[in-house]
Amino acid sequence: MIIDKAGCDKSKLSAKRSRAYELIAAEKKRVENFAGFHSGLFSDLCKTDEKVYKLLSDEYERVRDTIQLIAAENQCSRSVLAALGSIIQNKTIEGFAGKRYHGGSGVIDSLECLAIERAKRVFKAEYANVQPHSGTQANQIVMTAVLGRGDVVLSLGMDQGGHVSHGADVSFSGKFFNVENYCVDPKTFLLDYESVRHKAMMLKPKLIICGCSAYSRVIDFAKFRQIADECGAYLLADISHVSGLIAAGVHPGCIDHAHFTTTSTYKPGGPRGGLILMGRDFDTKFALGEKEIELSKLIDKATFPGVQGTPYANNIAAKAVFFGEMLAEEYTERQRKIIKNAQLLASEMADHGFDVITDGTDNHMVLINVANYREGLNGYIAQHALEDCGIVVNMNKLPYDTKPVSVTSGIRLGTPIITKNGMGAEQISLISDIIKEVLGNVEIVSVKSYKLDEQVRTSVIRRVRSLNSGFFNP
Ligand SMILES: *Cc1c(COP(=O)(O)O)cnc(C)c1O
Repeated sequence: MIIDKAGCDKSKLSAKRSRAYELIAAEKKRVENFAGFHSGLFSDLCKTDEKVYKLLSDEYERVRDTIQLIAAENQCSRSVLAALGSIIQNKTIEGFAGKRYHGGSGVIDSLECLAIERAKRVFKAEYANVQPHSGTQANQIVMTAVLGRGDVVLSLGMDQGGHVSHGADVSFSGKFFNVENYCVDPKTFLLDYESVRHKAMMLKPKLIICGCSAYSRVIDFAKFRQIADECGAYLLADISHVSGLIAAGVHPGCIDHAHFTTTSTYKPGGPRGGLILMGRDFDTKFALGEKEIELSKLIDKATFPGVQGTPYANNIAAKAVFFGEMLAEEYTERQRKIIKNAQLLASEMADHGFDVITDGTDNHMVLINVANYREGLNGYIAQHALEDCGIVVNMNKLPYDTKPVSVTSGIRLGTPIITKNGMGAEQISLISDIIKEVLGNVEIVSVKSYKLDEQVRTSVIRRVRSLNSGFFNP
């Protein structure tokens, strides 16, 4: 033992010291290297902001313990999450790759080019714009690009299955443009292309929008283009809900039919955000004052500085990751299963006596008129009673629905998440049994209030958790 003048055990001291050096070195490495910097992000958050950490972990538990049947939701991969939560979120950029206003943009330029190149491959497109912050912004960009204030737009009404950004009074689109709606057939609830043509020839819109938020059948984009050509309109296909299916070739494509295609990127299973694509019309000329400009260049201009400021570099990186995933066979295979599962769900629900809109589905969603199932039942009560039991769905207005949007006659179910987590026929059968049990037992008190038998509730919650336990792969 070496004892120094102060009487300390020197070997112990040096062990302590070297441990301290090790810790300092580890800390240094943690911040000096990419992987180290990003590791332990959540243990850091836990220390710096317990409240937010707790709420985020509550969300994890909510997803773990409930079944997600929201057609407008999906779950991105851990790789997409990693890109979203990475250091590139700090980069400020404006403009497009190679033409940025801020310095230091080389890396994000490469990432954006990679995202664009992959998006073009996924959708067999000539042009891709990965900057839109959302599906709504993608639509706003296209509309701002080709329309002037007061120009006529023809779209599917929101209460018929269209999206709020397609011209609803309450949205920018309804405020600045003169929006007219086409409808679905009042008996079959299918798109009626003859009536679309009739309206288009009468109104001569400058833009026709197709693509839906609540429509479970195939959309005939070729027919829409024919109509657009006949009346001299541009065609925007908003494929937010079915873009994954289209990419996989399990829903007819639209890229060369539409002048512009838009989609959200989270619905097919990527990060939140939007995407604009163009096919053969990417270099079609557009008269801009005295000059002519290619449609794709027009979209660039409308993106920045037209509608958006700085794009989200982290979302662009995450989109690149996601488009890479979409190119893999596993993704294509999953899209097939999503449709198969939705068709199973539709037929199980019909067997249980539910009114499935259009008697089935061609895509990932199933629309159900719950008001027809039982006296007094509506979308509001169905959504809330199911959520109390661990089944997450959303109420939805149905075509020609007489109930207000805050109540609705319908619910919309979707299979992207349960399919991603590995569920198939057996689980779907259990889920439809559970939905029937809850909606059959809920005691309806008034339009927005109900009572649930405690025994039913606890038994369903237990079954949902056990069903989910084998299929939780967020
Ligand atoms: C979900 C959806 C959008 C909106 O996308 P956000 O990213 O939520 O703005 C646009 N169009 C359609 C048809 C949609 O279903």
